[in-house]
Amino acid sequence: MSQNVDINEIDKFSQLASEWWDPNGKCKPLHIINPLRVDYVKQQCASIENQLVLDVGCGGGILSESLAKLGAKVTAIDLADVSLDVARSHAKLGGLSIDYKKQTVEEHAKQYPAHYDVITCMELLEHVPDPLSIIRACAKLLKPNGKLFLSTINRNHKAKLLLIYGAEYIARLVPKGTHDFNRFIRPSELMTWVEQAGLSTGDVIGMEYHLLKNQFKLGANIDVNYILMAQKMD
Ligand code: SAH
Repeated sequence: MSQNVDINEIDKFSQLASEWWDPNGKCKPLHIINPLRVDYVKQQCASIENQLVLDVGCGGGILSESLAKLGAKVTAIDLADVSLDVARSHAKLGGLSIDYKKQTVEEHAKQYPAHYDVITCMELLEHVPDPLSIIRACAKLLKPNGKLFLSTINRNHKAKLLLIYGAEYIARLVPKGTHDFNRFIRPSELMTWVEQAGLSTGDVIGMEYHLLKNQFKLGANIDVNYILMAQKMD
């Protein structure tokens, strides 16, 4: 394999491409957590207006569009043609200008070193063979002081129970096989990779599920879904 891509993963996401923008479809969990991650990016960056932002593994553009609506100049990459088609037409309908490209982040890094103020790479690392290679490419793409936001899923029994048995088998929220437990990433592993890529971890925050309220919230609990913010020091 010459590229850091799992074709089965690309196929899997291509199959649900028609549902990217259905808030009650198979991408429902992404729609639920999206406002939280956008709030977090806003919290961590004074403003992203007019900032150059790259969204890696953008899918149908759920996050890319929210960032563009905040005034960021967004480039977004993915490898699934059908998802990129959906993303392009949805942005057009909403009058948003987002530069969608089919390209690996490793290739993109060769063309645009030290180019971006902010990079988001959400819910992607647990779907690729070599997450460190993605993080290294993001590090290369960042300007000095630029910020990288990585979100993924912790690897423990609770995450397995909630996301694989709960969301895939019981609630049938997402298709069976959406997640591969072995690819879940512990925060300590992610921090090590971030350091290996020459970045510093600035902050880690959980996206916690509150059963009683049936709501997700940002909080200190990083047992399951979490976001790590890393910075490229000058
Ligand atoms: N980041 C989006 C979508 C997450 S789903 C969001 O959180 O809303 C994961 C996405 O990663 C899919 O669109 C899939 O096609 C894409 N993907 C998988 N492997 C990839 C790779 N190696 N490079 C770029 N995108 C990839």
